[in-house]
Amino acid sequence: MDSKTATPMLAKRSECCGCWACFNACPRKCIAMVPDKAGFLYPSIDMECCSGCSACTRACPVVVVGAEKKYSLLQRAEAYAAWNLDEDVRIRSSSGGVFSLLASYVLREGGVVFGARMANDLSVLHVPACNDSELNALRGSKYLQSNILTSYQDVKSELAKGRLVLFSGTPCQVAGLRCFLGEEFVNLLTCDLVCHGVPSKVMFNAYIDVLEHRYRARVQSVFFRDKRAGWTDYFVVAKFDEGKEYSAVFRDDFFMRAFLSDLCLRESCYTCGFKACGDVTLGDFWGIDRLAPDIFDDRGVSLLLANTEKGDGLLRNIRGRVFIKEVPLEIATKYNPCVLTPVTRPARRDEFIEDVDRMAMHRLLRKYGLLRKTRLEQLVIRVRKEGYLVLGKLKRHLANILDG
Ligand SMILES: Cc1cc2nc3c(=O)[nH]c(=O)nc-3n(C[C@H](O)[C@H](O)[C@H](O)COP(=O)(O)OP(=O)(O)OC[C@H]3O[C@@H](n4cnc5c(N)ncnc54)[C@H](O)[C@@H]3O)c2cc1C
Ligand code: SF4
Ligand code: SF4
Ligand code: SF4
Repeated sequence: MDSKTATPMLAKRSECCGCWACFNACPRKCIAMVPDKAGFLYPSIDMECCSGCSACTRACPVVVVGAEKKYSLLQRAEAYAAWNLDEDVRIRSSSGGVFSLLASYVLREGGVVFGARMANDLSVLHVPACNDSELNALRGSKYLQSNILTSYQDVKSELAKGRLVLFSGTPCQVAGLRCFLGEEFVNLLTCDLVCHGVPSKVMFNAYIDVLEHRYRARVQSVFFRDKRAGWTDYFVVAKFDEGKEYSAVFRDDFFMRAFLSDLCLRESCYTCGFKACGDVTLGDFWGIDRLAPDIFDDRGVSLLLANTEKGDGLLRNIRGRVFIKEVPLEIATKYNPCVLTPVTRPARRDEFIEDVDRMAMHRLLRKYGLLRKTRLEQLVIRVRKEGYLVLGKLKRHLANILDG
């Protein structure tokens, strides 16, 4: 970009992760984040306003050469199984409640924690938390892309005041912040999540419409990781006006079925190279029941990666409040491929996105095999499966007899 009229270079649409770094970097506020038909936000530059300063280009973690490699800290990672010894906080968290331990340490030090909360209109926003009650709203995974808004600028101004800051978010958001800042700060701690990808907001809105129609009430909040039946069989719970409640185990909830089928993720999530970009990385320690049954109790186990010396320091600062056990990285990631690699793009992803907007939910779910099986269908599958087993045994038995 050499002249004032040249177009600033941002990430290609297929690679743009929606991190908002360009938006935060623009000194003239020329960038708006605009939804596509699936509800994912992309930057749009008002060229009348643009001075061609290229601050947005320099802040984009996708454009900056080698940014993904530079920000991915997996080579250094040390892996642990961990959980918060405060059972109440652990139960209210998605996995082992380690995020709350890190955040509480920073608050005790007079610092500020940035993370994602669900707003009253059910959008997810990045906001600061300065006390325990604000921290409560950050707890728990929200399965939607959070809007960073001006939080990178806010982080920068807190850092400049010398305040301790913990920024938590998806790996691409942590990479976006680090690229926006462009330099290291001793008072910045970062925590990213193992990230499967983010689902379409339009799909989520359609889900909310169905629930509101079914319950004839307005949804006030959605909690995606309720542990009423345990951590591995987590429930999705929506609360309505008038005290009504919807709840379903994740595998029976049609929004989670669509999310986990990978049919409605942001395009960049299928080729995502942002892995372990924070001082620590947190995820679910899926498979711990098979890998270490002696420590599994279904109340939630975090997969914790310490990726930097600052990450090691954070672990020292939460000592005494956490159960922690070191595990080789290859074991820790055995049942959690998203730690290392992006998910595969389903061939019908674009067709699904088109259909979300134009098909009735029931037809959409049926077309893509996302309908929950009825009891009768479940029975037929079981009988067939067990029937084949019996048939297999019979065949082997007959073969043995014939072989003499
Ligand atoms: C979209 C998404 C996909 C994920 N995919 C996987 C996966 O495939 N495998 C896996 O092991 N773990 C995944 N996780 C992480 C996991 O669900 C837990 O968030 C993580 O284990 C931390 O749990 P915790 O018990 O320590 O704390 P919690 O209190 O449950 O975690 C809350 C933290 O998550 C942040 N957060 C919540 N929602 C969002 C959001 N939408 N965007 C950015 N930050 C958010 C909060 O700011 C806070 O820092 C995913 C999380 C999200 C949000
Ligand atoms: S080139 Fe400068 S003025 Fe133009 S959009 Fe980018 S940051 Fe804003
Ligand atoms: S900075 Fe982030 S939102 Fe902006 S173009 Fe690059 S990837 Fe997309
Ligand atoms: S999968 Fe990658 S691009 Fe998608 S939200 Fe997660 S970190 Fe960002």
